[in-house]
Amino acid sequence: MIEWLGIEHLFELSGAEAIAGFFTPLAIFAAFLVAQFILPGRKVPGYVINPDTGQPRNYRLNGILVFLLAVAIWATEITGMPRDWFYRSSLYAIAGGTVFTLIMSIAAVYSQPQGDIKNPLLALWEGRAQEISLFGERVDIKMYFYVVGGTMLSLNAMSGAAWHYDQFGSDFNPGVFLYAAFFTFYVFDYFIWERVQLYTYDLIYERMGFKMFWGGIVIYGWVFILPLWGMAAHPHPGFSDFWTYVWLIGSTALFLLGWSIGRGANLQKYTFKRWPDRKFLGIIEPKYIEAGDRKILYTGLWGVARHFNYMGEGFLSFAVGLSFGHFLNPWAWAYFVFVVSFFTWRQRSDETHCEEKYGAEKWAEYKSRVKWRIMPGIY
Ligand code: NDP
Repeated sequence: MIEWLGIEHLFELSGAEAIAGFFTPLAIFAAFLVAQFILPGRKVPGYVINPDTGQPRNYRLNGILVFLLAVAIWATEITGMPRDWFYRSSLYAIAGGTVFTLIMSIAAVYSQPQGDIKNPLLALWEGRAQEISLFGERVDIKMYFYVVGGTMLSLNAMSGAAWHYDQFGSDFNPGVFLYAAFFTFYVFDYFIWERVQLYTYDLIYERMGFKMFWGGIVIYGWVFILPLWGMAAHPHPGFSDFWTYVWLIGSTALFLLGWSIGRGANLQKYTFKRWPDRKFLGIIEPKYIEAGDRKILYTGLWGVARHFNYMGEGFLSFAVGLSFGHFLNPWAWAYFVFVVSFFTWRQRSDETHCEEKYGAEKWAEYKSRVKWRIMPGIY
């Protein structure tokens, strides 16, 4: 089975290495916590309201510094850890990460009073507390998850590229490097706009349960490189120089299109929430439906579809599938399949929440103005 899947190279650790792989996430969690605590950060008010004060929660953001430090430590091998370690230990790290996030979730959930979710197992999955911060408000746990998860996604992808190069040398597949570059760019861009994340779904709705702990760190940080498990073991697809350029430039163009849509929509919403009457990029006039003291934006990217930002993720994940150049290999499409399923569900979930927040009548008005859910003309 494992051979048939083409992932036997992920089972080649010695006994001692397997144990080290299992504990790698624990070391990472601790190192990132220390880095986030020590490195300077900028303090900003967020979007969600702190119920104790009635004021926006405060956050201290320094993801970009933690990310750059982690990349430098990984690239220089200063700790003695080989660059391909994260990739080679992927499966053991996922096992360890799952166990450790489960233990952390049990502590985070069962230390809280019982809330509206009475079933203890469901509460463990969904969580009870909306937010947890440590050391006063110095480290917010949701934002910490993104720092660990995002940075590890990039490091795991680069680590896979390092492993791939060791295997194939001059017959290496540039698509594997392109894949690592896509995710490193994606994560770097996220850190540049880290504050915008404070205005998104996870921050607004998710609670501190296993779904958030495991999803935010293990799935995002380690499992997102799933396509690489199958694809890093393949050499250059063998195209001519001309078709190699078409494939690499075409994938990059599609990736950048997807990124522009996602980043553009997120920034437009962020601009609108902070300065409701300011034109986005100085040109797109914000028009909105008033729903009590809330406002539903319906111009620009939020007028094309009700969640056009998810369309951006769709293009981007399609580009990820193309990036390897082995178009018929199902591994290449694992991320694309995840993204389409996940965002189809999330769009519906967010609309249910929004209908409650904004009121059915106002939301129906928005739906009549902006007909499409994600993909204009199709869905
Ligand atoms: P959104 O950023 O779309 O946040 C949803 C919230 O935005 C709504 O609950 C509502 O909250 C507000 N909102 C929605 N529509 C409008 C509107 N028309 N006018 C005003 N406010 C509106 O969702 P996500 O957090 O899911 O996504 C954020 C980004 O992160 C996206 O680009 C997404 O693609 C990306 N992402 C990527 C993932 C991946 O796996 N690659 C996973 C998750 C997210 P309120 O009214 O309370 O402000």
